[in-house]
Amino acid sequence: TIGGLLARIAARWPDHPALVVPAQGVRIDYATLDAVVTRLAAGMLKLGLEAGDRIGIWSLNRAEWVLMQFASARAGLVLVNINPAYRSHELEYALNLSGCRALVMAQRFKSSDYPATLAQLAPELAESTPGELHSARLPALRHVILLGDEAALPGMWRFNDVALCRDAAALAHVRVLQDTLHPNDAINIQFTSGTTGSPKGATLSHRNIVNNGYFIGEQMRLRPRDRLCIPVPFYHCFGMVLGNLACVTHGACMVVPGEGFDALATLQTVQAERCTALHGVPTMFIAMLEHPRFAEFDLSTLRTGIMAGSPCPVEVMRQVVSRMHMDQVTIAYGMTETSPVSFQTNPDDPLERRVDSVGRVHPHVEVRIVDEEGRVVPRGETGELQTRGYSVMRGYWHDPVRTAEALDAEGWMHTGDLATLDEDGYCRIVGRLKDMLIRGGENIYPREIEEFLYGHPDIADVQVFGVPDDKFGEEVCAWIRRREGAQLDAETVRDYCRARIAYYKVPRYVEFVEEFPMTITGKVQKYLMREVMAERLA
Ligand code: ATP
Ligand code: MG
Repeated sequence: TIGGLLARIAARWPDHPALVVPAQGVRIDYATLDAVVTRLAAGMLKLGLEAGDRIGIWSLNRAEWVLMQFASARAGLVLVNINPAYRSHELEYALNLSGCRALVMAQRFKSSDYPATLAQLAPELAESTPGELHSARLPALRHVILLGDEAALPGMWRFNDVALCRDAAALAHVRVLQDTLHPNDAINIQFTSGTTGSPKGATLSHRNIVNNGYFIGEQMRLRPRDRLCIPVPFYHCFGMVLGNLACVTHGACMVVPGEGFDALATLQTVQAERCTALHGVPTMFIAMLEHPRFAEFDLSTLRTGIMAGSPCPVEVMRQVVSRMHMDQVTIAYGMTETSPVSFQTNPDDPLERRVDSVGRVHPHVEVRIVDEEGRVVPRGETGELQTRGYSVMRGYWHDPVRTAEALDAEGWMHTGDLATLDEDGYCRIVGRLKDMLIRGGENIYPREIEEFLYGHPDIADVQVFGVPDDKFGEEVCAWIRRREGAQLDAETVRDYCRARIAYYKVPRYVEFVEEFPMTITGKVQKYLMREVMAERLA
């Protein structure tokens, strides 16, 4: 279990740095992390929470997030990761779907004030004693625990009221309880990014995520002296599993550069903390590489890191290796539902191999690529990727319909991604089934056109997707972010394409934008772009 793992690591490397959050002045070693986590777990049991109860966490990356991740697992609670960007409507949905008895929340996210948002849903809070909320709209919720340094608010616990528990009986109870937990117990409800629609709550166990964190740390060759900079959100599996659990399974140090992603803060932190590894989605690496002050930073301590979450343009990979010194950078492919990783590249493979695939299958995971009828396709052909193994979720929480669509009776997870496997077992992600467009009977994979356009010197970033068309069914549309100072127009883009790619792939619509609609995990939401275009063309 996760609690047991942390105890073993703390016994082995007690004075090794475990967690560094410069913005909060936090710098603790493994013995301290272990002790603090036990007290927080005891504090939560003392509130009356019991094994199996759901506890929500609604916050950007803070030290307390990491403490909650380990303390809730140690207390046998199910941690519910709530997207920091949620407002009242989505918060109500997430809390009630999972039946949270407690909610740990930050003070704010950007312009949204969390206590005010919660008060809209639960006006009863202002009149209630902490721990005794009875709200008509949030019927299961009893406890609200507030993070941050500001004064206590009516009806809420302060985080430290819970975390600084010294009650001997509760502390003893935590130790006994931890040994009764089973690795297959649900400990986490993690929402998917919401790239293709509304997020789904994947239910994951200790076994699911501890092992994935361990194996990915092995692949990255993490050692106790490594310091991993984690700008990706903890509320998502990228942060909490590939970041936090990869570190803790290897005694390495988690370094948190700030609450949300900021290119400059990340570069500064890597330099100041002498980080050896750095995670990010491609859009984050692009933002760092493009930053006007990039050249000021000494990033020579970097060695590795994971780039994942969406297609990784070849050119970005090359620059991450040459300009950021991450010559062992690992590409990983995964999804929340599979804890998350199913494929990753090997640092020993030549760069050429690493840039054009997501590597080979993850240990103890089975994969297959099937056609529309569910038949395995010959090697090299494109079909839907399916995965099976220890890492597959138990299901979507209280959602038998979407669970049945995703997980079949034989345990295969239908990823919804199009992929190919070559003779040597290297996998290429061709795109999402939902993103593939069919124009006049031709299958078009937007990714291919994006990779091609990415090679244009005036194009900083590009997204290609299908829009409805009366004549051809669908037409190709490209949204482009120009490089600073570049003078590029739509006709030039089309001419550039016409000379080099098949006529049916040439974007009929070309738009220039400042930014793309994005999830806070940094993924581009094509379905929203499609909606904008469909409205404009209607
Ligand atoms: P939702 O399921 O809510 O629409 P999402 O699928 O983006 O959102 P996640 O679970 O965060 O939610 O992301 C998993 C998906 O991300 C994969 O199914 C795949 O489409 C994409 N992905 C992950 N890693 C890679 C990669 N290395 N290359 C290409 N695509 C990737
Ligand atoms: Mg998905």
